Amino acid sequence: TPVLQVRDLRVDIGERTVLQSITLDVQPGSLTVLMGANGSGKSTLGMALAGHPHYKVTAGQAILDGKDLIQLPAHERARTGFFLSFQSPPDIPGVKNNLFIRTALNAVRESKGEAPLDAFDFLSGAKQGAKTLGMPITMLNRPVNEGFSGGERKRNELLQLTQLNPRVALLDEIDSGLDVDGVRAVVELVQRMRAQGTAFIVVSHYLQMIESLQPDQVLRLDQGRIAETGGLELARSIAETGFTRATA
Ligand code: ADP
Ligand code: MG
Ligand code: MG
Repeated sequence: TPVLQVRDLRVDIGERTVLQSITLDVQPGSLTVLMGANGSGKSTLGMALAGHPHYKVTAGQAILDGKDLIQLPAHERARTGFFLSFQSPPDIPGVKNNLFIRTALNAVRESKGEAPLDAFDFLSGAKQGAKTLGMPITMLNRPVNEGFSGGERKRNELLQLTQLNPRVALLDEIDSGLDVDGVRAVVELVQRMRAQGTAFIVVSHYLQMIESLQPDQVLRLDQGRIAETGGLELARSIAETGFTRATA
Protein backbone atom coordinates (compact mmCIF):
# COMPACT_ATOMS: atom_id res chain seq x y z
CA THR A 1 0.00 0.00 0.00
CA PRO A 2 1.18 3.54 -0.73
CA VAL A 3 2.89 5.49 2.05
CA LEU A 4 1.49 8.72 0.59
CA GLN A 5 -1.76 9.18 -1.29
CA VAL A 6 -2.46 12.62 -2.67
CA ARG A 7 -6.08 12.91 -3.76
CA ASP A 8 -7.57 15.71 -5.89
CA LEU A 9 -5.43 18.31 -4.18
CA ARG A 10 -6.18 21.92 -5.04
CA VAL A 11 -3.95 24.72 -3.81
CA ASP A 12 -4.60 28.44 -3.97
CA ILE A 13 -2.13 31.25 -3.45
CA GLY A 14 -4.08 34.38 -2.70
CA GLU A 15 -6.97 34.45 -5.15
CA ARG A 16 -5.28 32.22 -7.67
CA THR A 17 -5.61 28.44 -7.99
CA VAL A 18 -2.09 27.17 -8.63
CA LEU A 19 -2.61 23.40 -8.34
CA GLN A 20 -5.70 21.64 -9.66
CA SER A 21 -6.77 18.15 -8.80
CA ILE A 22 -3.35 16.61 -8.14
CA THR A 23 -3.62 12.87 -7.55
CA LEU A 24 -0.55 10.80 -6.87
CA ASP A 25 0.43 7.56 -5.13
CA VAL A 26 3.85 7.07 -3.60
CA GLN A 27 5.00 3.59 -2.56
CA PRO A 28 7.46 2.98 0.28
CA GLY A 29 11.04 3.16 -0.99
CA SER A 30 9.93 4.46 -4.38
CA LEU A 31 11.21 7.45 -6.28
CA THR A 32 9.01 9.88 -8.19
CA VAL A 33 10.52 12.57 -10.38
CA LEU A 34 8.48 15.73 -10.78
CA MET A 35 9.22 17.84 -13.84
CA GLY A 36 7.52 20.84 -15.38
CA ALA A 37 8.19 24.29 -16.77
CA ASN A 38 8.94 27.21 -14.48
CA GLY A 39 5.81 28.21 -12.64
CA SER A 40 3.98 24.92 -13.29
CA GLY A 41 3.50 24.38 -9.55
CA LYS A 42 6.25 21.96 -8.47
CA SER A 43 7.40 23.96 -5.47
CA THR A 44 3.80 24.73 -4.58
CA LEU A 45 3.14 21.03 -4.11
CA GLY A 46 6.02 20.77 -1.61
CA MET A 47 5.03 23.92 0.24
CA ALA A 48 1.39 22.86 0.45
CA LEU A 49 2.32 19.41 1.78
CA ALA A 50 4.66 20.99 4.32
CA GLY A 51 1.91 23.37 5.45
CA HIS A 52 3.35 26.73 4.50
CA PRO A 53 0.68 29.32 5.43
CA HIS A 54 0.68 31.11 2.03
CA TYR A 55 -0.31 27.93 0.23
CA LYS A 56 -3.97 27.25 0.93
CA VAL A 57 -5.31 23.78 0.29
CA THR A 58 -8.90 24.34 -0.84
CA ALA A 59 -9.75 20.74 -1.76
CA GLY A 60 -8.40 17.23 -1.49
CA GLN A 61 -6.29 15.17 0.85
CA ALA A 62 -2.72 13.98 1.34
CA ILE A 63 -2.78 10.81 3.39
CA LEU A 64 0.58 9.80 4.87
CA ASP A 65 0.51 6.54 6.79
CA GLY A 66 -3.23 6.91 7.30
CA LYS A 67 -3.16 10.53 8.48
CA ASP A 68 -4.27 13.48 6.38
CA LEU A 69 -1.34 15.91 6.41
CA ILE A 70 -3.66 18.73 5.36
CA GLN A 71 -5.59 18.46 8.63
CA LEU A 72 -2.42 18.77 10.71
CA PRO A 73 -0.62 21.96 11.77
CA ALA A 74 2.68 22.43 9.91
CA HIS A 75 4.90 21.48 12.85
CA GLU A 76 3.14 18.13 13.18
CA ARG A 77 3.57 17.22 9.53
CA ALA A 78 7.28 16.60 10.02
CA ARG A 79 6.46 14.36 12.98
CA THR A 80 4.31 12.12 10.82
CA GLY A 81 7.31 11.61 8.55
CA PHE A 82 7.10 14.23 5.81
CA PHE A 83 10.28 16.11 4.93
CA LEU A 84 10.64 19.01 2.50
CA SER A 85 14.01 20.17 1.25
CA PHE A 86 13.40 23.75 0.10
CA GLN A 87 14.30 25.02 -3.34
CA SER A 88 15.71 28.11 -1.56
CA PRO A 89 16.56 27.08 2.01
CA PRO A 90 16.01 30.07 4.31
CA ASP A 91 18.39 31.47 6.97
CA ILE A 92 17.38 31.12 10.59
CA PRO A 93 19.52 33.82 12.19
CA GLY A 94 20.57 33.24 15.78
CA VAL A 95 19.62 29.54 15.83
CA LYS A 96 22.55 27.17 15.77
CA ASN A 97 22.39 24.45 13.19
CA ASN A 98 23.00 21.58 15.61
CA LEU A 99 20.31 22.76 18.01
CA PHE A 100 17.86 23.31 15.16
CA ILE A 101 18.30 19.80 13.77
CA ARG A 102 18.33 18.16 17.20
CA THR A 103 15.08 19.90 18.17
CA ALA A 104 13.41 18.72 14.97
CA LEU A 105 14.76 15.21 15.44
CA ASN A 106 13.61 14.99 19.05
CA ALA A 107 10.11 16.11 18.08
CA VAL A 108 9.98 13.22 15.61
CA ARG A 109 11.39 10.80 18.21
CA GLU A 110 8.87 11.93 20.79
CA SER A 111 5.97 11.22 18.43
CA LYS A 112 7.32 7.68 17.96
CA GLY A 113 7.61 7.20 21.71
CA GLU A 114 11.42 7.26 21.57
CA ALA A 115 13.61 8.99 24.16
CA PRO A 116 15.12 12.34 23.13
CA LEU A 117 18.78 12.42 22.12
CA ASP A 118 21.09 14.49 24.28
CA ALA A 119 23.60 16.83 22.69
CA PHE A 120 26.37 14.26 22.83
CA ASP A 121 24.49 11.39 21.18
CA PHE A 122 23.00 13.71 18.60
CA LEU A 123 26.39 15.10 17.70
CA SER A 124 27.95 11.74 16.96
CA GLY A 125 25.18 10.97 14.43
CA ALA A 126 25.25 14.48 12.98
CA LYS A 127 29.02 14.38 12.55
CA GLN A 128 28.70 11.09 10.73
CA GLY A 129 26.03 12.60 8.45
CA ALA A 130 28.14 15.68 7.79
CA LYS A 131 31.10 13.52 6.89
CA THR A 132 29.16 11.50 4.30
CA LEU A 133 28.04 14.79 2.73
CA GLY A 134 31.51 16.33 2.71
CA MET A 135 30.44 19.09 5.11
CA PRO A 136 32.90 20.60 7.57
CA ILE A 137 31.84 19.78 11.14
CA THR A 138 32.16 23.48 12.03
CA MET A 139 28.97 24.15 10.05
CA LEU A 140 27.03 22.46 12.83
CA ASN A 141 27.97 25.33 15.13
CA ARG A 142 26.92 28.11 12.82
CA PRO A 143 23.45 29.69 12.69
CA VAL A 144 21.23 27.81 10.22
CA ASN A 145 22.26 28.71 6.67
CA GLU A 146 23.56 32.14 7.67
CA GLY A 147 26.29 33.07 5.21
CA PHE A 148 26.07 29.59 3.62
CA SER A 149 26.64 29.39 -0.13
CA GLY A 150 23.93 27.90 -2.34
CA GLY A 151 25.62 24.50 -2.37
CA GLU A 152 26.25 24.60 1.39
CA ARG A 153 22.56 25.28 1.99
CA LYS A 154 21.64 22.27 -0.13
CA ARG A 155 24.10 20.09 1.76
CA ASN A 156 22.61 21.36 4.99
CA GLU A 157 19.14 20.29 3.82
CA LEU A 158 20.59 16.85 3.13
CA LEU A 159 22.14 16.76 6.59
CA GLN A 160 18.69 17.35 8.10
CA LEU A 161 17.35 14.58 5.87
CA THR A 162 19.97 12.08 7.11
CA GLN A 163 19.10 12.82 10.73
CA LEU A 164 15.30 12.96 10.45
CA ASN A 165 14.91 9.76 8.46
CA PRO A 166 11.42 10.59 7.12
CA ARG A 167 8.85 8.29 5.48
CA VAL A 168 8.52 10.61 2.49
CA ALA A 169 11.00 13.29 1.39
CA LEU A 170 10.37 15.88 -1.30
CA LEU A 171 13.64 17.30 -2.61
CA ASP A 172 12.97 20.53 -4.52
CA GLU A 173 15.75 21.18 -7.07
CA ILE A 174 18.31 19.69 -4.71
CA ASP A 175 20.91 19.60 -7.50
CA SER A 176 20.83 23.35 -8.13
CA GLY A 177 23.95 24.88 -6.66
CA LEU A 178 25.56 21.52 -5.86
CA ASP A 179 28.90 20.56 -7.35
CA VAL A 180 29.53 17.11 -8.87
CA ASP A 181 30.54 15.63 -5.52
CA GLY A 182 27.36 17.02 -4.01
CA VAL A 183 25.18 15.46 -6.70
CA ARG A 184 26.95 12.14 -6.23
CA ALA A 185 26.32 12.38 -2.48
CA VAL A 186 22.61 13.01 -3.16
CA VAL A 187 22.34 9.92 -5.33
CA GLU A 188 24.13 7.73 -2.78
CA LEU A 189 22.11 9.07 0.12
CA VAL A 190 18.78 8.74 -1.66
CA GLN A 191 19.47 5.18 -2.80
CA ARG A 192 20.63 4.16 0.68
CA MET A 193 17.52 5.66 2.31
CA ARG A 194 15.22 4.11 -0.30
CA ALA A 195 16.64 0.70 0.53
CA GLN A 196 15.48 1.36 4.09
CA GLY A 197 12.00 2.35 2.97
CA THR A 198 12.04 6.14 2.63
CA ALA A 199 10.10 7.29 -0.44
CA PHE A 200 11.28 10.28 -2.47
CA ILE A 201 9.70 12.90 -4.68
CA VAL A 202 12.48 14.66 -6.55
CA VAL A 203 11.96 17.89 -8.47
CA SER A 204 14.74 18.06 -11.04
CA HIS A 205 15.54 18.48 -14.72
CA TYR A 206 19.06 17.14 -14.44
CA LEU A 207 18.84 14.05 -16.62
CA GLN A 208 22.12 12.49 -15.55
CA MET A 209 21.06 12.59 -11.90
CA ILE A 210 17.54 11.38 -12.72
CA GLU A 211 18.99 8.39 -14.57
CA SER A 212 21.24 7.52 -11.61
CA LEU A 213 18.25 7.73 -9.26
CA GLN A 214 16.35 5.03 -11.20
CA PRO A 215 12.87 6.52 -10.79
CA ASP A 216 9.73 4.43 -10.52
CA GLN A 217 7.62 7.17 -12.05
CA VAL A 218 8.13 10.49 -13.80
CA LEU A 219 5.40 13.12 -13.79
CA ARG A 220 5.16 16.29 -15.81
CA LEU A 221 3.22 19.17 -14.33
CA ASP A 222 1.71 21.74 -16.63
CA GLN A 223 -0.16 24.75 -15.27
CA GLY A 224 -0.91 23.05 -12.01
CA ARG A 225 -2.06 19.71 -13.41
CA ILE A 226 -0.35 16.40 -14.03
CA ALA A 227 -0.12 16.46 -17.81
CA GLU A 228 1.97 13.32 -18.39
CA THR A 229 2.97 10.24 -16.42
CA GLY A 230 5.68 7.83 -17.44
CA GLY A 231 9.07 6.42 -16.63
CA LEU A 232 12.63 7.35 -17.44
CA GLU A 233 11.71 7.68 -21.14
CA LEU A 234 9.50 10.67 -20.27
CA ALA A 235 12.39 12.39 -18.49
CA ARG A 236 14.64 11.70 -21.48
CA SER A 237 12.13 13.06 -23.93
CA ILE A 238 11.63 16.24 -21.87
CA ALA A 239 15.40 16.71 -21.58
CA GLU A 240 15.73 16.30 -25.33
CA THR A 241 12.85 18.34 -26.65
CA GLY A 242 11.74 20.59 -23.78
CA PHE A 243 8.31 21.37 -22.44
CA THR A 244 6.87 22.98 -25.53
CA ARG A 245 6.97 19.82 -27.65
CA ALA A 246 3.66 18.61 -29.00
CA THR A 247 2.01 16.01 -26.81
CA ALA A 248 -0.42 13.38 -27.95
P1 ADP B 1 7.65 25.84 -10.02
O1 ADP B 1 8.25 25.38 -8.75
O2 ADP B 1 7.06 24.75 -10.85
O3 ADP B 1 8.59 26.69 -10.83
P2 ADP B 1 5.93 27.35 -8.26
O4 ADP B 1 5.18 26.30 -7.53
O5 ADP B 1 7.05 28.02 -7.55
O6 ADP B 1 6.41 26.78 -9.67
O7 ADP B 1 4.91 28.47 -8.71
C1 ADP B 1 3.66 28.18 -9.32
C2 ADP B 1 2.94 29.48 -9.58
O8 ADP B 1 2.55 30.06 -8.33
C3 ADP B 1 3.79 30.53 -10.28
O9 ADP B 1 2.97 31.22 -11.18
C4 ADP B 1 4.24 31.42 -9.15
O10 ADP B 1 4.47 32.74 -9.60
C5 ADP B 1 3.07 31.36 -8.20
N1 ADP B 1 3.52 31.54 -6.81
C6 ADP B 1 4.31 30.67 -6.12
N2 ADP B 1 4.54 31.12 -4.86
C7 ADP B 1 3.89 32.30 -4.77
C8 ADP B 1 3.71 33.27 -3.71
N3 ADP B 1 4.27 33.09 -2.51
N4 ADP B 1 2.95 34.36 -3.99
C9 ADP B 1 2.38 34.52 -5.21
N5 ADP B 1 2.49 33.65 -6.23
C10 ADP B 1 3.23 32.56 -6.02
MG1 MG C 1 10.86 27.46 -10.41
MG1 MG D 1 10.11 25.58 -7.94
